[in-house]
Amino acid sequence: MIKFILAGVILITGSLFLIFSDHNSDKNIYNSDPRFFDSTKSQGKQMSDKIIKTDEEWKKELSPEAYKILREKGTERPFTGKYWDNFELGTYVCAACGTELFESNAKFESGCGWPSYFEPIDSSRIIYKADSSFGMVRTEVMCSKCGGHLGHVFDDGPPPTGKRYCINSGAMKLIKKGK
Ligand SMILES: [Zn+2]
Repeated sequence: MIKFILAGVILITGSLFLIFSDHNSDKNIYNSDPRFFDSTKSQGKQMSDKIIKTDEEWKKELSPEAYKILREKGTERPFTGKYWDNFELGTYVCAACGTELFESNAKFESGCGWPSYFEPIDSSRIIYKADSSFGMVRTEVMCSKCGGHLGHVFDDGPPPTGKRYCINSGAMKLIKKGK
């Protein structure tokens, strides 16, 4: 009888240990990426839809250029990206997670050297965040699904919105119409 009780105690302790160690490792994954933490503050309700990967995983999946922009908030040099002067019809999707972000019919020639749009397909697909880096006050835009950095939005765009979404070519892929 004592043997049975002992075995029971060992089983319970073992499973408790497993539960607690799982819980801790989850926590570590979230803590390892501060950008993930930022985005949950503004979009907490959509947390379950988010794509969460470690820096190492993103590094394996993305080109070095896309990684630098999307995960390290880099900016490609103006007039060098593949889409700034491309006006083919189609849909621009996030290069990291494929979320449809901008339609070609919202794209306009801004002269700034980066692809520019007056509106996103759906503003819920974008995270807006105040950015005061480089001594400027700007609004950063990120993909709401994967948290990837896309570019910035400014108030000097054309009608109907007056907005200029200034986006890095390297953060997107153009899915041409009819393909
Ligand atoms: Zn994305």
